[in-house]
Amino acid sequence: MGITGLGRRAKLAFRAVIAAAFAALAVAAQAVEYTGPLFDAHLHYNDEAQSPHPLPDVLARMQRNGVKAILANSRPNDGTKALASSPLTRQAGVTVVPFVRLYRNRADYESWSHDEAIYEMVLAELARGTAAGPFRGLGEFHLYDSGNANGAVAKKLMALAEERSLAVLAHVDDLAIDLLMANTPSKGQKVRLIWAHTGIGGAPAARVDQLFARYPLLMGELSYRPGLTCDGGKLCPEWRDLLLKYPTRFMIGSDTWVNQRWQYYDELMKGYRLWLGDLPADAARKIAWENGAGLFGLK
Ligand SMILES: [Zn+2]
Repeated sequence: MGITGLGRRAKLAFRAVIAAAFAALAVAAQAVEYTGPLFDAHLHYNDEAQSPHPLPDVLARMQRNGVKAILANSRPNDGTKALASSPLTRQAGVTVVPFVRLYRNRADYESWSHDEAIYEMVLAELARGTAAGPFRGLGEFHLYDSGNANGAVAKKLMALAEERSLAVLAHVDDLAIDLLMANTPSKGQKVRLIWAHTGIGGAPAARVDQLFARYPLLMGELSYRPGLTCDGGKLCPEWRDLLLKYPTRFMIGSDTWVNQRWQYYDELMKGYRLWLGDLPADAARKIAWENGAGLFGLK
């Protein structure tokens, strides 16, 4: 029977049933999203972000998205220190894991790997620490030419990271992963390297798998990772398989490298919650929170 044959009261009742069905569907769609805490493992609070997005603004964005801890770094390092020292950060329930950025300005992106002044700056920052405690890592740094992994300062910083148990956040290609690892005393067996974007240049999942097998402490951060998500924002099959093969090795991140990323912070985190909800609950919680929290000994 078609709805056209129904009386007015029956039509209203029918509409109510349909509306209830849609509401139930919406609840079901929400229920599959991951709803637990998030560790943002790639956050910048750069110079140019601080005026349009003062501390209360960025902290509100973290808070309303359930981001309970951040791997923070900034160009220059003042932004990280501001986040680490403000009572507002504690009030927002956000734990700051501070990293030393290797850049004082844009020019340093290209030259840091050979610049002794950067090494001196890193040593001074490490000695100073932050109000939230000592720096826990180095980076994010970039190597636009993977050969620069063998620059004198890049070599010294990788050795320093291993000696002082500092994690490293590196935006590099797969070749540079091998080169950077080779420059540590353990040849990459003991250094905690977080691969920003897990091969943004497009290293295939099989190559990522190979590097994860070779370096037991290598972690993958997943912002801007091409091929990660497919239809409807869900994980593509080969990446879903890789995440499930190594559920203790991946983390999510915002990469707020330009102000636009702050404007879309809500959408970025919602996107993560969507595909995390498509994983078994224990794997989702590891990638969302526990892997980062465990790496830095957070509660
Ligand atoms: Zn970044």
